[in-house]
Amino acid sequence: MTVDSVLSRRMNDLPLLAGIEAGGTKVFVLLGTGPDDAVAELRIPTTTPEETLGSVIDFFATQREAGNVPVAAGIASFGPVELRRDHPRYGFITTTPKPGWSGTDVLGPIRAVLDVPVGFDTDVNGAALGEGRWGAAAGLDSFVYLTVGTGIGGGAVVNGTVAHGVVHAEMGHVAVPRHPDDDFEGRCPFHRSCLEGMASGPAIADRWGTPAQDLAGAELEAAVEMQAWYLAAGLRTIVYVLAPQRVILGGGVAAMPGLMPAVRRALIDTLGGYPGLPEHGSVDFVVPAGLGSLAGPAGALVLADHALNDSAR
Ligand code: ZN
Repeated sequence: MTVDSVLSRRMNDLPLLAGIEAGGTKVFVLLGTGPDDAVAELRIPTTTPEETLGSVIDFFATQREAGNVPVAAGIASFGPVELRRDHPRYGFITTTPKPGWSGTDVLGPIRAVLDVPVGFDTDVNGAALGEGRWGAAAGLDSFVYLTVGTGIGGGAVVNGTVAHGVVHAEMGHVAVPRHPDDDFEGRCPFHRSCLEGMASGPAIADRWGTPAQDLAGAELEAAVEMQAWYLAAGLRTIVYVLAPQRVILGGGVAAMPGLMPAVRRALIDTLGGYPGLPEHGSVDFVVPAGLGSLAGPAGALVLADHALNDSAR
């Protein structure tokens, strides 16, 4: 599926939904019923909260004049965010290094202007839901979506529901052992050498002195093997704790050439034959994302659908 296929004629009579992916660098809004069935879209850079949320609100006002009125909306936001529905700051970004966004109410202004049920979750959990309905995890009810880019984040769908507790999961910060040939100190400001500290895009750039996309030749091969080793180490914890049916790897770093088969090999190796399931060794166990840049807004449409169903109860 390509991004160019987004604006297609609506081929069904399903109710119109709004999906808002509020990412740390860009915002992507879809009005439609799915990634293949949208009537309008908005893509803007994430600047200040006032300007960014104002542009989204303006977009909905213009669409309303055109007769495109959603019956529910979903927001998949960068974070950390407050997800406890009974918390006074539910729908807020809590503390983020992104200037100006700490303490921003993302949900409130959107809900006020649309006046419809609005679902809210993290961008990573949203992407997981999108992949679950239309992408690489379609038909499965327990899987993990791990995005590897500027940071590392994971969303777990367990028995069809995104796993939440006091906060969303922070899979990028699980502990990993140190690769025997690696003396890079790690760059997580909290844990130094956690999974994100050792295997995010910036960690690769720091370790090798070159961004991942510019590595070549023997250095690229060595970087891919080490990257696969760290990702497999993190996935071992995730696989043993959550027992997913599949793991989806998304994000820019996941596109390093040769990484996917290298992660599969390294995961089989680090699992050490336990519990010996053929599923863990299958090429279908660790797979690339299926929706690309549409996973976020598609997942936000799933959040909208859930909000609509919740409101009907
Ligand atoms: Zn960390």
